[in-house]
Amino acid sequence: MSENSNPILDLLVIGGGASGMCAAIAYQKRILEISQSYADVLILEKNDRVGKKVLATGNGRCNLSNKDMELSHFHSRKESFPGKILEKVPPLETLAFLNDIGIVTTSEGNKIFPMSKVSSSVVDAFRSELTDLRIRVASDTVVSGITAGDPLTVSCEDGRVFYGRKVIVACGGACAPALGTTGDGYRWLSSLGHKVYAPKPSIVQLVTENAVTKPLSGLKADAQVSLIEDGCIIASQFGEVLFTDYGLSGPAVFQISGEVSRRMRKGRLAAPIYVSLQIFDEITIASLSEELRSRLRTMSQRPIEQLLLSILPGKIGTMILKTALDRPLSLPISSLSESDIRKILGTLRDWRFDVLGTRSLEYAQTTIGGADCDEFCEDSLESLIVPSLYACGEVLDVDGDCGGYNLQWAFSSGIAAGRAAAEKEPVFRDKEGGS
Ligand SMILES: Cc1cc2nc3c(=O)[nH]c(=O)nc-3n(C[C@H](O)[C@H](O)[C@H](O)COP(=O)(O)OP(=O)(O)OC[C@H]3O[C@@H](n4cnc5c(N)ncnc54)[C@H](O)[C@@H]3O)c2cc1C
Repeated sequence: MSENSNPILDLLVIGGGASGMCAAIAYQKRILEISQSYADVLILEKNDRVGKKVLATGNGRCNLSNKDMELSHFHSRKESFPGKILEKVPPLETLAFLNDIGIVTTSEGNKIFPMSKVSSSVVDAFRSELTDLRIRVASDTVVSGITAGDPLTVSCEDGRVFYGRKVIVACGGACAPALGTTGDGYRWLSSLGHKVYAPKPSIVQLVTENAVTKPLSGLKADAQVSLIEDGCIIASQFGEVLFTDYGLSGPAVFQISGEVSRRMRKGRLAAPIYVSLQIFDEITIASLSEELRSRLRTMSQRPIEQLLLSILPGKIGTMILKTALDRPLSLPISSLSESDIRKILGTLRDWRFDVLGTRSLEYAQTTIGGADCDEFCEDSLESLIVPSLYACGEVLDVDGDCGGYNLQWAFSSGIAAGRAAAEKEPVFRDKEGGS
């Protein structure tokens, strides 16, 4: 027994999110296979219940994974690391794991969702499985620190102390703090000697020059969205773009936002970047070129403001014309020259917005940065600095693209850490001689 007579538990999992619940379940299942008995597993969760962030995922629909598992969708300073873990617990095995706990899936394009398309059903399945496997949850428990040793000691803000033969840090990153993730794990891990890369937001809105976006706030357009730095495309995605007071949002913008974050130094971009929106593809632009030239004749007496009538939503069309031309749009269409038409087509092909940065971690869906993967075993996710301490999920320096990649990482790494912790010989024998 420990000094304050708290029992020493087999496993403490800090964080009852996607990776922590997977880790606890995978651990208990493996212990049951090995010893046909239940281990003493406790999840310490800051919120009043587990899985709050999972509830918020995919706009409440929970985009669990993706059929396209190219490793280029995962990012880490240790490039090979996510691939090693995904090799160990591949996406298909994760789906089987989810199926076993009662989550059946379906797909929409490449994106994988629970068949119900309701995230609460995913959390309900996890909670039932925790109960079935006799995994206890201490909710409303805010961990404040970890002390290395045998056993490991986990302290909480309210003064409680827990002891674990093994501890899995699954407390997520630093984005969406309202859901419990405030980067606490970075402090504990760095006080234990781990290197932590400063957290930055990804899957987040872009802040741009807003003279054009603000008047269009709330309007959406489908476009090829490209990030351009020094004349080169550094990221590109087709999809919906939402104009906002501060800049640009929407799925296509989220997808490329990480590349902006990675280039931010002390709150500023290292080099100028702009977003280029291509509203129409080249074939459509060719036919529009015909249409606009014919409008020079058929609509010659109407104001220029009406040139893109029915081609684009009114306000967006007007803004394109304002951007392309430097004259009042009340003038007649007949006043437009061939060069004006080329400028308008050029803006439809390449509508530019200077990027100032991203919105903050508060608004992001995932965190770039975190604990350096180089200091964790790429097989077991055990710390190479503190024996019997493991980490999984977003607290590690791994982030995924938008589209189910972050939950996939949380699931695969959580399962890998849980299984490895179960397979490791307990390093601790308590003072009474038991294990
Ligand atoms: C709005 C939103 C939508 C998203 N949608 C998707 C999506 O559709 N698909 C996808 O793949 N990804 C999505 N993500 C990202 C995904 O949810 C996360 O990457 C994933 O949940 C990370 O899992 P995790 O277990 O590492 O951390 P989390 O799921 O964040 O869990 C960490 C847990 O640790 C707890 N915790 C933190 N600090 C402490 C402490 N000091 N003491 C005790 N407990 C603590 C937290 O309360 C939390 O419950 C979304 C994220 C957000 C914010």
